[in-house]
Amino acid sequence: MARAAVQRRLTWQLATVDAVTDETPRVRTLTVGVPGWPGHQAGQHLDIRLTAEDGYQAEREYSVASAPGEPVAITVERLDDGEVSPYLTQELQAGDEIEVRGPVGGYFVWRPEDGGPLLLIAGGSGIVPLRAMLRHRQQTGSTVPTRLIYSARTRQDVIYSAELMELQQGDGVDVVLTLTREQPPGWDGHTGRVDAELLRELAWPAGQDPLAYVCGPTAFAEAVSATLVGLGYPPQRVRIERFGGTGGP
Ligand SMILES: Cc1cc2nc3c(=O)[nH]c(=O)nc-3n(C[C@H](O)[C@H](O)[C@H](O)COP(=O)(O)OP(=O)(O)OC[C@H]3O[C@@H](n4cnc5c(N)ncnc54)[C@H](O)[C@@H]3O)c2cc1C
Repeated sequence: MARAAVQRRLTWQLATVDAVTDETPRVRTLTVGVPGWPGHQAGQHLDIRLTAEDGYQAEREYSVASAPGEPVAITVERLDDGEVSPYLTQELQAGDEIEVRGPVGGYFVWRPEDGGPLLLIAGGSGIVPLRAMLRHRQQTGSTVPTRLIYSARTRQDVIYSAELMELQQGDGVDVVLTLTREQPPGWDGHTGRVDAELLRELAWPAGQDPLAYVCGPTAFAEAVSATLVGLGYPPQRVRIERFGGTGGP
């Protein structure tokens, strides 16, 4: 990467919100124009910095929701007692400016040459970097066998629902939803948490040398990755991104 590009991703830059899209009642995608964005890889994140009128600053990390080459987008879930996410999901509008730094991270990244079979496991907003990977897979024409296991509280909380259902139908991606809190009438899909029983049924067998990416609240990501290792996945084939917090989806 050119020296100027490295420099740019390490410094704060003023970015403009180009569009806001509501994904669910609690989740919003912000598409941001970042001048001179050096490009990102699927799975990387960026830093956001907000500055109040009295100079108080808050910084948070957000996964890039878009595939490499697409406009930069983040998808934020509102935590009602949160400091930053209510502002990003309720107040920020197209045309507003925010400070951005990135892209950041090289470990939780998937490139087509990393292969698979690919096992993507998301809890709640943990779907965001995995969606970037799914889009990248599609964009590059990769045929790596891919299964997404996505745990959400209710059907309404499923982020990118239409896009995921479309992928499921057309592109050799197996999408499995599990709803932990409430199921719509007639729901015949999975219920409850991503636990050993569910993974024994749905995870690629360890003997196929799968590559797993697990993302979500910290407790979720750690429990799921430990279970995969218990099922025989070598730890180096299980990549984790912890979003913080203690709850599960
Ligand atoms: C690498 C990385 C990527 C991330 N990507 C995303 C993303 O794509 N989308 C997204 O919505 N968030 C993402 N997060 C989480 C994000 O950085 C913030 O932590 C989150 O938006 C909460 O910020 P807040 O200021 O609203 O809440 P805070 O004021 O920081 O916290 C409020 C309360 O919520 C709890 N909490 C904090 N984070 C979480 C969480 N993730 N889940 C549950 N409870 C939590 C805290 O313990 C506290 O009790 C990512 C985090 C990391 C480290």
